[in-house]
Amino acid sequence: MSLLPLPPVSRALGTSSLTVSPLAWGMWRLAENGRTATEAATLVHAALEAGITLLDTADIYGFDGHAGFGDAEALLGDVLRAEPALRDRMVLASKGGILPPLPYDQSTAYLNAAIEASLKRLRVDCIDLWQIHRPDILAHPHEVARTLDSAVAAGKIRALGVSNFTIHQTAALQHFLGQPLATTQPEISPLRIACFENGELDQAMMLGLTPLAWSPLGGGRIAMPETARDKAVAAALDAVAAPLGISRTVAAYSWVIAHPAGIIPIVGSQNAARIAEAATATTVQWSRTDWYAVLVAARGEKLP
Ligand code: NAP
Repeated sequence: MSLLPLPPVSRALGTSSLTVSPLAWGMWRLAENGRTATEAATLVHAALEAGITLLDTADIYGFDGHAGFGDAEALLGDVLRAEPALRDRMVLASKGGILPPLPYDQSTAYLNAAIEASLKRLRVDCIDLWQIHRPDILAHPHEVARTLDSAVAAGKIRALGVSNFTIHQTAALQHFLGQPLATTQPEISPLRIACFENGELDQAMMLGLTPLAWSPLGGGRIAMPETARDKAVAAALDAVAAPLGISRTVAAYSWVIAHPAGIIPIVGSQNAARIAEAATATTVQWSRTDWYAVLVAARGEKLP
């Protein structure tokens, strides 16, 4: 039985000159539980030492509905202040455009201010990949594109990405941008399979965007399944994981990686041992039969 190919050792982010590992590490949960800069540094080291070079944060990470906006970026900034040499070992990704208590703001004034604030909190001169976190329906894509092109021209950002955009929103922004978008960041996991059939990944392949998968374990539900559907998906993953002697979560990451769009799962764990284990997903190969069995479990019905 032929197997789907393993990922390359490193991938280009879209058509940009940035190259990254086949997995990323995410810092959505970094500023939780009163984590100190020393503890945060341990996690950054765990990711880098596991060969994970793409580190994803956002200005809103740390916000708990009342306070904490900017806290995850600031914590990473503290890590970088203590160990400036870490900066050159990572491709640093952040996001902006969600402004509590407003839902979204992508006006020129707000985006410029948000990018400046992120640079300051992170204590860097340039963010390698800057992504619009969620689309602002009230912002014209032409204006957004002009603002982002200017930020790249000013050297504040190297490459651009979108997150949670529909295919039409991505196409409209790309139409006005003076450079290719490098990435798109939808939610993708064995529990979140919409993008396999709704055109998002097809568009990514057509435009040469690298998809970054947020919540690749469904926010942890792959490890701790709750519903009957979660359990069916877990069982389909276990059917592959058990004979290979790997964990279900590693099977889940590798299942996402096996898609031909070259998806990079963003590992969300804030546990050093789990981050290291996640990186082993690059060695797991899937057969078409097993891959589709997970998809069918997630669909809850047979494919036509
Ligand atoms: P996830 O990997 O789906 O879930 C991570 C959660 O699962 C953590 O709470 C983790 O706990 C738990 N977990 C992992 N392995 C486990 C295991 N073996 N047993 C039990 N629990 C386990 O990812 P996520 O944190 O939801 O999201 C990942 C990244 O995606 C974020 O950091 C962020 O960069 C990005 N993201 C982006 C958006 C967006 O709108 N663009 C939205 C959400 C997330 P431990 O920490 O204890 O391991």
